[in-house]
Amino acid sequence: MSAFTDRADAALADPILKIAVERTAGTAEAKRTIAIDAFPDFEAARTRAAAIKDHVIAHLGPYLEQFEANAVAAGAKVHWASTADEACKIVIDICQAAGAKSVARSKSMLGEEIGLPHALAEAGIGRVETDLAEHIIQLADERPSHIIWPAMHKTREQVSALFKAKHRSPHVEETIAAMAQSARRELRTQMLSADVGISGANFLIADSGAVCTVTNEGNAELSLVPPRVHIVTAGIEKIVPSMPHAIHMLRMLARSATGAALTQYTTFYTGPKRAGDRDGPEEMHIVLVDNGRTKMRDEGLAEMLRCIRCGACMNHCVVFRQIGGHAYGGTYPGPMGAVLTPVLDGLAPNRDLIHACTLNGKCQEVCPVRIPLPTLLKGWREKSWREGLEPTSMRAGLGLWAWVATRPRLYRLGTTIAVRVLRLLGTKGWIAKLPLAGGWTRHRDMPKPAAQTFMAQYKKARRP
Ligand code: SF4
Repeated sequence: MSAFTDRADAALADPILKIAVERTAGTAEAKRTIAIDAFPDFEAARTRAAAIKDHVIAHLGPYLEQFEANAVAAGAKVHWASTADEACKIVIDICQAAGAKSVARSKSMLGEEIGLPHALAEAGIGRVETDLAEHIIQLADERPSHIIWPAMHKTREQVSALFKAKHRSPHVEETIAAMAQSARRELRTQMLSADVGISGANFLIADSGAVCTVTNEGNAELSLVPPRVHIVTAGIEKIVPSMPHAIHMLRMLARSATGAALTQYTTFYTGPKRAGDRDGPEEMHIVLVDNGRTKMRDEGLAEMLRCIRCGACMNHCVVFRQIGGHAYGGTYPGPMGAVLTPVLDGLAPNRDLIHACTLNGKCQEVCPVRIPLPTLLKGWREKSWREGLEPTSMRAGLGLWAWVATRPRLYRLGTTIAVRVLRLLGTKGWIAKLPLAGGWTRHRDMPKPAAQTFMAQYKKARRP
């Protein structure tokens, strides 16, 4: 049993998790459908979004240089990080130079990817997560389980108990409004007294040097404007050429993520506070992080760099809906996580993860930037095969199947016999006990096969 299998088994045995995931993902799926139906020619918009991303990824160098020049002209400092460790070191150095004792962080998956929460703790710098779901995760000392709803694995009842145990002045009434007020009382003073604000970026606008963030709570604005220093950590693939491109991507992002026409707060930050501004940070630092992205572009995974982190693929994934996000083991869960995790954490320890997909194509169908996720996953499977990572039993089984399948007569004979045997065993309920069948039947029953093979039925159907 691999670590992934263990985690998936534990998730499947947790009935509360299933309820929590279904409540959020099910609602998101329904809302997205309504939003897309109301959007004029969403398919053409998807094609345009994919083309915008492909264009910038093919010309990443010039666009990043243009962004840097414009951001610097607006007064920001731009830093470049090749690895996660380099990115964390840059952020910690800036915090220490600012004498920061505490930072307010606005939700950023890149921050999770590079291990920033851990790096801040190691440097002795206090951290307050200002996004409500991230606040829940921080109190529970857990990792996010979804890129849009990091606490989606928790039910409202569990969150209520957590707030009562951890908040200084928790809610009394068991209502969502009272719980939100409890979080607000806990967070607000910490947000306003932080020395540094740290955010991610949804988009970087090359022709203006602006950084765009979107939230539904306004926590980014409240935690990034009051502190003296604002640090942005952003993956280099977040670049878009200009504002109209950013607006197009925003329209795709909000609808795909939550089914809303636009997020509640969409803010563009261009440099630090200028003379005459009433508020804003005195320093703005932008850390542009590669962490494997250039390698992805050059080694056949360029399409994955189109990802705008909307979460639609996981909301529509039959596997994610069963096991939730933590079972995936990496920073990013769901179909996009299954493609990204081997890049970030290596293929060998994630061999089972790349097989945890039915290839039904639903993720590709809903992806606003048309990422061919099933094809990319198949690419990982082929690589795993070429590098000899598949177990001997799998190699022998597939080798035997290939040998038989390329001999039509033998194949027909073999499948006819197999169908008869399986039907016989099936009537006695033995299919679940067959050797090698356990992985499939552990959580479900294997149905008895039809009396005739598909080929036999097809032949019969074609007879005049
Ligand atoms: S792969 Fe597509 S659907 Fe999934 S998060 Fe990225 S953009 Fe959204």
